[in-house]
Amino acid sequence: MDLNRRKLIAVSLFVLSFNFINAQTEFGNVVTAEQKIFISALSGNSEAFPNVILKDRYTEENRTNAVKYIENSLTRAGFKVKKQFYSEAVYNNKIMEGCNVYTMIPATRKTDEYIIIGAHFDSGEKDCPGAIDNATGCALIYSVAKLVKGVKNRQKNVLVVFFDQEEVGRIGSKAFAKMLEEKKYNVHSIHCADQLGWDEDSDKFMEIEKPSEELKELYYKHAKALEIPINTTKVISDHESFREQGYKQVVGLTEKFFGEKWQNRDTTPHYHKPTDTFETVNFEYLASGTQLIYNIIANLIN
Ligand SMILES: [Zn+2]
Repeated sequence: MDLNRRKLIAVSLFVLSFNFINAQTEFGNVVTAEQKIFISALSGNSEAFPNVILKDRYTEENRTNAVKYIENSLTRAGFKVKKQFYSEAVYNNKIMEGCNVYTMIPATRKTDEYIIIGAHFDSGEKDCPGAIDNATGCALIYSVAKLVKGVKNRQKNVLVVFFDQEEVGRIGSKAFAKMLEEKKYNVHSIHCADQLGWDEDSDKFMEIEKPSEELKELYYKHAKALEIPINTTKVISDHESFREQGYKQVVGLTEKFFGEKWQNRDTTPHYHKPTDTFETVNFEYLASGTQLIYNIIANLIN
Protein backbone atom coordinates (compact mmCIF):
# COMPACT_ATOMS: atom_id res chain seq x y z
CA MET A 1 0.00 0.00 0.00
CA ASP A 2 1.52 3.32 -0.98
CA LEU A 3 1.60 6.25 1.34
CA ASN A 4 -1.08 8.22 -0.49
CA ARG A 5 -3.48 5.35 -0.31
CA ARG A 6 -2.73 4.93 3.37
CA LYS A 7 -3.36 8.62 3.91
CA LEU A 8 -6.63 8.36 2.01
CA ILE A 9 -7.78 5.45 4.14
CA ALA A 10 -6.79 7.24 7.33
CA VAL A 11 -8.68 10.34 6.28
CA SER A 12 -11.74 8.27 5.25
CA LEU A 13 -11.75 6.48 8.58
CA PHE A 14 -11.50 9.78 10.38
CA VAL A 15 -14.41 11.24 8.38
CA LEU A 16 -16.45 8.07 8.94
CA SER A 17 -15.91 8.10 12.69
CA PHE A 18 -16.65 11.81 12.78
CA ASN A 19 -19.94 11.23 10.96
CA PHE A 20 -20.79 8.46 13.38
CA ILE A 21 -20.16 10.65 16.42
CA ASN A 22 -22.08 13.47 14.75
CA ALA A 23 -25.05 11.21 14.03
CA GLN A 24 -25.12 10.14 17.68
CA THR A 25 -24.93 13.70 18.96
CA GLU A 26 -27.60 14.80 16.52
CA PHE A 27 -29.88 12.01 17.75
CA GLY A 28 -29.29 13.14 21.34
CA ASN A 29 -29.84 16.82 20.55
CA VAL A 30 -33.13 16.32 18.71
CA VAL A 31 -34.49 13.90 21.28
CA THR A 32 -33.36 15.97 24.28
CA ALA A 33 -34.91 19.20 22.96
CA GLU A 34 -38.38 17.63 22.67
CA GLN A 35 -38.03 15.58 25.86
CA LYS A 36 -37.17 18.70 27.87
CA ILE A 37 -40.39 20.42 26.77
CA PHE A 38 -42.45 17.28 27.42
CA ILE A 39 -41.02 16.51 30.87
CA SER A 40 -41.04 20.16 31.92
CA ALA A 41 -44.80 20.43 31.35
CA LEU A 42 -45.62 17.02 32.83
CA SER A 43 -43.62 17.67 36.00
CA GLY A 44 -44.84 21.21 36.71
CA ASN A 45 -41.60 22.93 35.79
CA SER A 46 -43.58 24.93 33.25
CA GLU A 47 -47.26 25.37 32.45
CA ALA A 48 -48.98 22.40 30.81
CA PHE A 49 -51.72 24.86 29.72
CA PRO A 50 -52.16 28.56 30.43
CA ASN A 51 -52.34 28.84 34.22
CA VAL A 52 -52.13 25.06 34.73
CA ILE A 53 -49.11 23.73 36.62
CA LEU A 54 -49.05 20.00 37.29
CA LYS A 55 -47.85 19.77 40.90
CA ASP A 56 -48.29 16.02 40.57
CA ARG A 57 -50.00 13.49 38.35
CA TYR A 58 -51.69 11.80 41.27
CA THR A 59 -54.98 13.60 41.94
CA GLU A 60 -57.83 12.97 39.54
CA GLU A 61 -57.75 16.56 38.31
CA ASN A 62 -54.02 16.48 37.62
CA ARG A 63 -54.16 13.09 35.91
CA THR A 64 -56.93 14.41 33.67
CA ASN A 65 -54.75 17.41 32.76
CA ALA A 66 -51.78 15.12 32.13
CA VAL A 67 -53.93 13.06 29.74
CA LYS A 68 -54.89 16.29 27.96
CA TYR A 69 -51.25 17.39 27.68
CA ILE A 70 -50.12 14.01 26.28
CA GLU A 71 -53.08 13.97 23.90
CA ASN A 72 -52.25 17.49 22.62
CA SER A 73 -48.56 16.66 22.16
CA LEU A 74 -49.38 13.52 20.17
CA THR A 75 -51.95 15.34 18.04
CA ARG A 76 -49.49 18.14 17.28
CA ALA A 77 -46.93 15.53 16.23
CA GLY A 78 -49.46 14.14 13.73
CA PHE A 79 -50.74 11.11 15.65
CA LYS A 80 -54.35 10.01 15.93
CA VAL A 81 -55.05 9.68 19.64
CA LYS A 82 -57.25 7.09 21.31
CA LYS A 83 -58.28 6.87 24.94
CA GLN A 84 -59.31 3.89 27.00
CA PHE A 85 -61.54 4.95 29.89
CA TYR A 86 -61.73 2.09 32.34
CA SER A 87 -63.53 1.34 35.54
CA GLU A 88 -61.97 -1.61 37.36
CA ALA A 89 -63.06 -3.31 40.54
CA VAL A 90 -59.99 -3.86 42.74
CA TYR A 91 -59.15 -4.25 46.45
CA ASN A 92 -62.40 -5.65 47.88
CA ASN A 93 -64.48 -4.31 45.01
CA LYS A 94 -63.31 -0.73 45.28
CA ILE A 95 -63.88 0.86 41.86
CA MET A 96 -60.85 2.54 40.26
CA GLU A 97 -61.40 4.83 37.31
CA GLY A 98 -58.80 6.15 34.94
CA CYS A 99 -57.75 6.70 31.36
CA ASN A 100 -54.97 5.23 29.21
CA VAL A 101 -53.88 7.33 26.23
CA TYR A 102 -52.57 5.58 23.15
CA THR A 103 -51.83 5.85 19.48
CA MET A 104 -51.21 3.38 16.70
CA ILE A 105 -48.47 3.61 14.12
CA PRO A 106 -49.71 1.37 11.33
CA ALA A 107 -47.41 -0.94 9.42
CA THR A 108 -46.74 -0.01 5.81
CA ARG A 109 -48.11 -3.40 4.68
CA LYS A 110 -51.23 -5.28 5.68
CA THR A 111 -50.60 -7.18 8.92
CA ASP A 112 -52.45 -7.83 12.18
CA GLU A 113 -49.24 -8.05 14.23
CA TYR A 114 -48.57 -5.47 16.98
CA ILE A 115 -45.63 -4.35 19.07
CA ILE A 116 -46.60 -2.50 22.25
CA ILE A 117 -44.43 0.17 23.89
CA GLY A 118 -45.71 1.70 27.11
CA ALA A 119 -44.97 3.87 30.15
CA HIS A 120 -47.08 5.04 33.07
CA PHE A 121 -47.84 8.75 33.33
CA ASP A 122 -49.20 8.94 36.90
CA SER A 123 -46.90 9.92 39.78
CA GLY A 124 -46.43 8.18 43.13
CA GLU A 125 -47.84 10.68 45.61
CA LYS A 126 -49.75 13.91 45.97
CA ASP A 127 -47.38 16.87 45.41
CA CYS A 128 -44.82 14.55 43.83
CA PRO A 129 -44.04 15.98 40.35
CA GLY A 130 -42.70 12.61 39.12
CA ALA A 131 -40.16 14.02 36.69
CA ILE A 132 -38.00 10.89 36.67
CA ASP A 133 -40.80 8.55 37.82
CA ASN A 134 -42.17 8.49 35.19
CA ALA A 135 -42.24 11.55 32.94
CA THR A 136 -38.89 10.19 31.64
CA GLY A 137 -40.47 6.91 30.51
CA CYS A 138 -43.32 8.86 28.88
CA ALA A 139 -40.85 11.13 27.06
CA LEU A 140 -38.91 8.06 25.93
CA ILE A 141 -41.92 6.39 24.29
CA TYR A 142 -43.10 9.73 22.89
CA SER A 143 -39.77 10.21 21.07
CA VAL A 144 -39.65 6.58 19.96
CA ALA A 145 -43.17 6.96 18.51
CA LYS A 146 -42.06 9.97 16.46
CA LEU A 147 -38.95 8.16 15.22
CA VAL A 148 -40.84 4.96 14.34
CA LYS A 149 -43.36 7.00 12.34
CA GLY A 150 -40.40 8.16 10.24
CA VAL A 151 -39.31 4.60 9.37
CA LYS A 152 -40.20 4.01 5.71
CA ASN A 153 -40.91 0.28 5.71
CA ARG A 154 -42.71 -0.99 8.76
CA GLN A 155 -43.59 -4.68 8.82
CA LYS A 156 -45.51 -4.52 12.11
CA ASN A 157 -48.00 -2.13 13.72
CA VAL A 158 -46.79 -0.33 16.83
CA LEU A 159 -49.07 0.68 19.70
CA VAL A 160 -47.70 3.43 21.96
CA VAL A 161 -49.47 3.57 25.34
CA PHE A 162 -49.36 5.97 28.29
CA PHE A 163 -50.74 4.06 31.27
CA ASP A 164 -52.71 5.58 34.11
CA GLN A 165 -52.45 4.47 37.77
CA GLU A 166 -49.36 2.28 37.80
CA GLU A 167 -48.54 3.61 41.25
CA VAL A 168 -51.77 2.40 42.84
CA GLY A 169 -51.61 -1.19 41.59
CA ARG A 170 -50.91 -1.09 37.83
CA ILE A 171 -54.62 -0.51 37.21
CA GLY A 172 -54.14 1.17 33.80
CA SER A 173 -51.79 -1.43 32.31
CA LYS A 174 -53.96 -4.27 33.64
CA ALA A 175 -57.00 -2.73 31.92
CA PHE A 176 -55.01 -2.31 28.71
CA ALA A 177 -53.70 -5.89 28.76
CA LYS A 178 -57.25 -7.11 29.32
CA MET A 179 -58.46 -5.08 26.34
CA LEU A 180 -55.75 -6.54 24.07
CA GLU A 181 -56.80 -10.03 25.11
CA GLU A 182 -60.52 -9.37 24.72
CA LYS A 183 -60.08 -7.85 21.27
CA LYS A 184 -57.76 -10.71 20.30
CA TYR A 185 -54.85 -8.54 19.24
CA ASN A 186 -51.99 -10.48 17.65
CA VAL A 187 -49.22 -9.22 19.96
CA HIS A 188 -45.60 -9.72 18.96
CA SER A 189 -44.01 -8.25 22.13
CA ILE A 190 -44.46 -5.68 24.89
CA HIS A 191 -41.78 -3.19 26.00
CA CYS A 192 -42.29 -0.90 29.01
CA ALA A 193 -40.13 1.97 30.34
CA ASP A 194 -40.24 3.21 33.92
CA GLN A 195 -37.67 5.67 35.36
CA LEU A 196 -34.71 6.52 33.14
CA GLY A 197 -33.33 9.84 34.34
CA TRP A 198 -30.64 9.17 36.94
CA ASP A 199 -27.04 8.10 36.30
CA GLU A 200 -24.83 9.58 38.96
CA ASP A 201 -21.66 7.69 37.97
CA SER A 202 -22.25 8.35 34.22
CA ASP A 203 -21.72 4.71 33.25
CA LYS A 204 -25.04 4.59 31.29
CA PHE A 205 -25.94 1.37 33.13
CA MET A 206 -29.53 0.19 32.63
CA GLU A 207 -31.59 -2.75 33.78
CA ILE A 208 -34.11 -4.88 31.98
CA GLU A 209 -36.83 -6.54 33.98
CA LYS A 210 -38.05 -10.13 33.59
CA PRO A 211 -37.30 -10.35 29.85
CA SER A 212 -38.21 -13.43 27.80
CA GLU A 213 -35.11 -15.28 26.54
CA GLU A 214 -35.55 -13.84 23.02
CA LEU A 215 -35.97 -10.28 24.22
CA LYS A 216 -33.07 -10.61 26.64
CA GLU A 217 -30.78 -11.61 23.80
CA LEU A 218 -32.05 -8.77 21.62
CA TYR A 219 -31.65 -6.12 24.35
CA TYR A 220 -28.14 -7.27 25.26
CA LYS A 221 -27.09 -7.18 21.61
CA HIS A 222 -28.37 -3.65 21.01
CA ALA A 223 -27.12 -2.36 24.36
CA LYS A 224 -23.66 -3.69 23.56
CA ALA A 225 -23.65 -1.88 20.21
CA LEU A 226 -24.45 1.38 22.03
CA GLU A 227 -21.93 0.60 24.81
CA ILE A 228 -24.67 0.55 27.43
CA PRO A 229 -23.91 -1.88 30.27
CA ILE A 230 -27.00 -3.87 31.10
CA ASN A 231 -28.29 -6.18 33.80
CA THR A 232 -31.40 -8.34 34.29
CA THR A 233 -33.65 -8.11 37.34
CA LYS A 234 -37.09 -9.18 38.50
CA VAL A 235 -38.32 -5.70 39.41
CA ILE A 236 -42.04 -5.31 38.75
CA SER A 237 -43.80 -2.49 36.92
CA ASP A 238 -46.45 -2.23 34.17
CA HIS A 239 -44.84 -5.03 32.15
CA GLU A 240 -46.03 -7.56 34.76
CA SER A 241 -49.67 -6.80 33.93
CA PHE A 242 -49.12 -8.33 30.48
CA ARG A 243 -47.52 -11.51 31.86
CA GLU A 244 -50.48 -11.86 34.21
CA GLN A 245 -52.71 -11.67 31.14
CA GLY A 246 -50.74 -14.56 29.58
CA TYR A 247 -48.31 -12.73 27.27
CA LYS A 248 -44.79 -14.18 27.15
CA GLN A 249 -42.71 -11.74 25.06
CA VAL A 250 -42.51 -8.98 27.68
CA VAL A 251 -39.73 -6.75 29.07
CA GLY A 252 -39.29 -3.63 31.22
CA LEU A 253 -36.47 -1.07 31.07
CA THR A 254 -35.28 1.07 33.98
CA GLU A 255 -32.32 2.74 35.73
CA LYS A 256 -29.83 0.76 37.80
CA PHE A 257 -32.70 0.27 40.21
CA PHE A 258 -31.47 -2.91 41.78
CA GLY A 259 -27.80 -3.22 40.86
CA GLU A 260 -25.70 -6.39 40.71
CA LYS A 261 -25.62 -5.83 44.46
CA TRP A 262 -28.14 -3.63 46.24
CA GLN A 263 -25.42 -1.19 47.38
CA ASN A 264 -24.35 -0.72 43.74
CA ARG A 265 -27.67 0.72 42.66
CA ASP A 266 -27.68 4.07 40.86
CA THR A 267 -31.27 5.28 40.84
CA THR A 268 -33.01 8.53 41.75
CA PRO A 269 -32.90 9.26 45.49
CA HIS A 270 -36.00 11.45 44.92
CA TYR A 271 -38.22 8.42 44.28
CA HIS A 272 -41.83 9.27 45.19
CA LYS A 273 -40.79 12.56 46.81
CA PRO A 274 -41.71 16.21 46.12
CA THR A 275 -38.07 16.58 45.02
CA ASP A 276 -38.49 14.31 41.94
CA THR A 277 -38.18 17.44 39.81
CA PHE A 278 -37.17 18.47 36.30
CA GLU A 279 -33.72 19.71 37.41
CA THR A 280 -32.74 16.22 38.58
CA VAL A 281 -33.27 14.57 35.17
CA ASN A 282 -30.14 13.38 33.34
CA PHE A 283 -31.25 14.02 29.76
CA GLU A 284 -28.19 12.49 28.14
CA TYR A 285 -28.88 9.22 29.93
CA LEU A 286 -32.54 9.37 28.90
CA ALA A 287 -31.46 9.91 25.28
CA SER A 288 -29.31 6.74 25.50
CA GLY A 289 -32.29 4.74 26.71
CA THR A 290 -34.43 6.26 23.96
CA GLN A 291 -31.88 5.26 21.34
CA LEU A 292 -31.72 1.73 22.75
CA ILE A 293 -35.49 1.21 22.58
CA TYR A 294 -35.72 2.88 19.19
CA ASN A 295 -32.97 0.67 17.72
CA ILE A 296 -34.72 -2.42 19.07
CA ILE A 297 -38.17 -1.46 17.76
CA ALA A 298 -36.71 -0.40 14.39
CA ASN A 299 -35.03 -3.81 14.21
CA LEU A 300 -38.25 -5.64 15.12
CA ILE A 301 -40.41 -3.86 12.53
CA ASN A 302 -37.79 -4.27 9.80
ZN1 LIG B 1 -42.74 4.28 38.01
